[in-house]
Order: sequence, then structure tokens, then C-alpha cells
Amino acid sequence: MSDLILFWHRRDLRISDNIGLAAARNRSASVVGVFCLDPNLLERDDVAPARVTYMMGCLQALQTRYAKAGSQLLILKAEPQHSIPALATALSASAVFWNLDVEPYSQTRDLVVQEALQHVGIETKTFWDQLLHAPDEIRTGAGDPYTVYTPFWRNWSSKPKAEPALALTQAVGLTESEQQAAMKAGAIDLPTAKDLGFVWDNALLLEPGEAAAQARLETFCDRAITDYQEHRNFPFNTEGTSHLSAALKFGAIGIRTVWAKTTEAMAQARSDEAHDGIRVWQQELAWREFYQTVMYLFPALADGPYRKPFKDFPWDNNPKHFQAWCDGKTGYPIVDAAMRQLNELGWMHNRCRMIVASFLTKDLMIDWRWGEKYFMQRLYDGDLSANNGGWQWSASSGMDPKPLRIFNPASQAQKFDSEAEYIRAWLPELRSVDTEDLVTGKILPLERDRCGYPAPIVDHNQQQKHFKEIYRQQKEK
Ligand SMILES: Cc1cc2nc3c(=O)[nH]c(=O)nc-3n(C[C@H](O)[C@H](O)[C@H](O)COP(=O)(O)OP(=O)(O)OC[C@H]3O[C@@H](n4cnc5c(N)ncnc54)[C@H](O)[C@@H]3O)c2cc1C
Repeated sequence: MSDLILFWHRRDLRISDNIGLAAARNRSASVVGVFCLDPNLLERDDVAPARVTYMMGCLQALQTRYAKAGSQLLILKAEPQHSIPALATALSASAVFWNLDVEPYSQTRDLVVQEALQHVGIETKTFWDQLLHAPDEIRTGAGDPYTVYTPFWRNWSSKPKAEPALALTQAVGLTESEQQAAMKAGAIDLPTAKDLGFVWDNALLLEPGEAAAQARLETFCDRAITDYQEHRNFPFNTEGTSHLSAALKFGAIGIRTVWAKTTEAMAQARSDEAHDGIRVWQQELAWREFYQTVMYLFPALADGPYRKPFKDFPWDNNPKHFQAWCDGKTGYPIVDAAMRQLNELGWMHNRCRMIVASFLTKDLMIDWRWGEKYFMQRLYDGDLSANNGGWQWSASSGMDPKPLRIFNPASQAQKFDSEAEYIRAWLPELRSVDTEDLVTGKILPLERDRCGYPAPIVDHNQQQKHFKEIYRQQKEK
């Protein structure tokens, strides 16, 4: 058996600050990457073309990085349960290393791959890489998992954080004949997203790949991070947040690198406001870790609500209302602007994600899982843990001590889009309407007709009373 180690990339599409890859290189000079285009994931009905486009771009950038380091990134397009062991056997690899993931499917898949490799005598080694603290690390004093964010954050933020891992700069790749053997075992040329049937012709908010993610991190931490607390809730301000979500989802940037940059910014912060801005952004990184941790420890979250009153909730699930919500045609300008942003960019501002999720669940009384799925079908940063966490938080069905949150679209618009700039940017048909009418949503029927904009499909005040009543009955059951 050779000293070749195969490193199986999944959602860590980078060579810098990659714990498992650094460990592989530490063990052997001969390290080759592999990525598997898994039909079990790509053939699901909630895959966003924008997300696949971003991912394929990251893989292309990763292949270039491997080539520069003297090695290769191999691509497979088959179930990893069979194709990874087949490739490792064909190359007589001594070991396969990979970084672990929190999602239920990944955990089951990894166990099958691990067993198959062990069966043919190939060593496996796994690592936690995508979180600053592995899911078992952060526990209450009694040793239980946290189910509420704030105490989780207190504990999480008090723990020391690891430094970024060493980048792979040089490795020995496959010989010509080994490359032939890899192709016989299923390795293919890297396809494009279009080759795979995913068409996304709009620009992506962040260029794929490690270099673009690193540049974005630096720009954000050099300036905007200090104003984050003040600017993050205003959706028209496109510079108010980092736009790093897709890079973090696919691991185009390492989380230790991100954290190190925030501590550097903190050391340079000159005012309390700047300090607070950085702290609040670090808290967002902790939300990401909280949702991943609970997804790992409570995998049932992926399929249903956490809180009892929502287990058999009598949702209305009106398909016409759902379609109007998806198309951005509910007659509520802030909701519609946000949905059009999602459909156009494959991304939506966080404030608006909360507004539209509250509207779908509390005003339209549609099961949050419909919205969760629609988001996954559109978001280029779509991520099971963050999306499920965000939806359950908005529906009030998740791990949130506050029992009911109902957002009033008008008050949200008045507060966070007071000049209606965001609304006008995404609803061009309403550009000539008065700001006051746009933010309150009180647009006269004649004006709506003139602009070709629909009447509100439900009445917010009535619906919130209705929702509260149903919720009360559910709790009593
Ligand atoms: C209903 C709903 C669905 C969501 N779906 C997703 C999703 O599929 N994928 C996703 O990455 N985020 C999701 N979020 C969280 C959040 O909206 C996005 O992470 C954020 O808007 C991405 O923009 P940004 O990178 O500029 O974020 P920033 O504000 O710059 O935040 C920095 C990073 O922290 C993480 N983060 C921030 N807020 C949250 C949060 N509430 N939960 C978990 N992580 C967070 C993200 O990785 C983000 O990139 C969802 C939120 C809601 C309310």
C-alpha cells in the first residue's frame, strides 16, 4: 500500500485553514483531494441553481489551487457510499481523511463510507472543522446540550478559539498511470452547473472560491464590521452585512480565519461602538454554530417542530396564498420586495428573511416547512441548519424562549426602510407611489390598479388575532 492519503472535500472547499487537509499533509506528502457530486443531494427537489453554480465555481477554484500545490482534486459523480471506497481501492490509498458535518444525511452517509473503507483495509480519519467548537464541546454545567441561544453564546464565547490551520502549499499528486486508474474508478472532468442541469444566469453576490471569500472578509473587517450593529438591519444598505454566508456554507473560508480577523479588528477598535459592532457580528457567527450544534444533537429538528403546540398545528396551507408569497405578489410591499430580491439574487437580507417568514406563518398561516423548502430552492447560501433554525424561530416552533413573535410588515418597513428605498428598488412598478403609502402599505385601490400592484391578500390585524387564537387552543390541547 502507498502512502497516498485521499482527502474527501464536502463543505470545506478550500486548501487554507482546513483541519482535516492539514492533518493529511502532516502525515504524508502524498495528498490528493476528491469531491463527490452526490445524486442523493443533487437530485433532491430543493436544490437552488444559484447554490450549485456557486459550489461548482468553488470546485473549479479548488482544482486550480491543488494544481498549483502540485496535486489534483478528483471529481466523482456517483453515490459516495460506493465511489469513494472504489476510488481509494483503485489508487491503493493508505487512508481517507475528511471533515465531519452536522446534517443527518451526512452522518449516515459517512458511517457507510467508513465501514466500506474499513472493510477493504483502508484507514479513515475524521475531524471537526466547520465549527469553532465541535457540537459536543459546549454543554451546560449539568452536561446537557443547550436549547437556548443566549446561555450557549455566553459559554461558547468564553472558550479559547483555535488558530487557523496551515494551508496546503505543496503536495505530491498522482502519476499519469494513477490518474488513468482514477478515471477507470469513476473520476471525471469537472462539469459546470449547467452541465448538471442547473441554470443560473444572474450574477452571484460573491464570486466563488477561496480568494474571493478571503478578499470579502478583509474588506468587511477593515471597515463595515465596526458599524455592523448600527447598519445590519437596513436591507437597502448592501454593505451593512458581510455577504459571507455562501462562503461559510461551502467552506470557501475557514471559520478560524474568520474569527482571527474579528479579533484583529477588535484589537484595533478605537470606540465602544466599534467594539460593539464587532461583538454583534461575532454573535452572528455563534448563531451559525448554535443552529449547527442543535441540528447535530437534535436531528429530529430537520423534519419537524421542536415545540409541542406546533406538532399538529392546523395550518391553512392555501396554495394560492403560497404562490403569491413566492412570486412577491401579496400586496404587502416590504414582503414582496424581499421575495423579489430572493428570486432575483438567490439571497435575501436577514431582516427581510424574518419579515417574510413571519408573514408566511403568522399572516398566511402556511406551514413553515413550505417556506423553508422554497428558501432552499432559491438561496445560494441555503443551509439546512441555519435555514431550519431561522424558520423555526420565525414560526415560533423552535428553540426560542419567546413563545410568539408576530412581525407587523408596516412597522418593520417604517423602522428599517423608512424612505422605502428597498421597496422601490425591488418593486419598480411602485416607484412613483408616496413613501408613506409604501411603508405603511396603505396604497389606495385606484393607485394599486394604476401600478398593476395587487390588493393585500389577507388583513394583517385579523390574521394575527386568528393566529393567536389557534395558538392558544393548541397550547390547551
Ligand atoms: C427564515 C430564515 C432563513 C435563513 N436561512 C439561512 C440559510 O439558509 N443559510 C444561511 O447561511 N443563513 C440563513 N439565515 C440567516 C441569515 O439570514 C443569513 O446568514 C444572512 O442573511 C447572510 O448574510 P451575510 O452573510 O451578509 O450575514 P452577516 O450578517 O454578515 O452574518 C455573518 C455570518 O453569520 C452567520 N449568520 C448570521 N445570521 C445568522 C442566523 N440567524 N443563523 C445562522 N447563521 C447566521 C452566517 O454564516 C453569516 O454569513 C436565515 C435566517 C432566517 C430568518
